[in-house]
Amino acid sequence: MRNGNLFVISGPSGAGKGTLVARLAQRVPDAWVSRSMTTREPREGEVDGVHYDFLTKEDFLRLAEADGFLEWAEYAGNCYGTPRKSIEDALAAGKQIILEIDVQGAFQVREKMPSAHLVFIVPPSLEELERRLRGRGTEEEDVIARRMEAARFELSHKDEYDKQLVNDDLDTATDELVAYVDSFADRK
Ligand code: 5GP
Repeated sequence: MRNGNLFVISGPSGAGKGTLVARLAQRVPDAWVSRSMTTREPREGEVDGVHYDFLTKEDFLRLAEADGFLEWAEYAGNCYGTPRKSIEDALAAGKQIILEIDVQGAFQVREKMPSAHLVFIVPPSLEELERRLRGRGTEEEDVIARRMEAARFELSHKDEYDKQLVNDDLDTATDELVAYVDSFADRK
């Protein structure tokens, strides 16, 4: 068995984090991708218990109050959090734990677990990011504007991450991410 580690993957929505994490999970056999909880409405095609656990704001805040989250944050008007219990279980099992979370959550994780590795996925440009967000076709204009504002905020923090990865070519970015994860897991 390899050493278990915890990796945080952040970057603006539309940067391609989801795709990269899915590819990473296929390539790294001991990877374990955390499933977050959110108060956001499911997008078309999203399944409760698969993409997220979707819950009401009331239930979310109750769980936060009971210290049920490793970290949580508000992003573009909705709450998102990482359930603490599942992470503790995955740590005990020695997995390569992958959290796909925002900048605020990433820094909370770093506080609590200083050995976490923080990776920032950089979109090729803000113009390309906006094009991808529109291309998704699932977001209203005001949602796109909020997400672009959040993107500028997130990008202003990218230098505080341990690694930045530019996602202009998906295959190259995947290779780099897999190599990064493996470099820690294989350490003696
Ligand atoms: P989306 O609504 O596009 O699925 O996610 C919006 C943002 O919330 C993304 O940057 C995503 O990484 C982040 N996010 C997803 N789950 C969590 C979580 O559990 N905690 C935090 N802090 N951010 C999350």
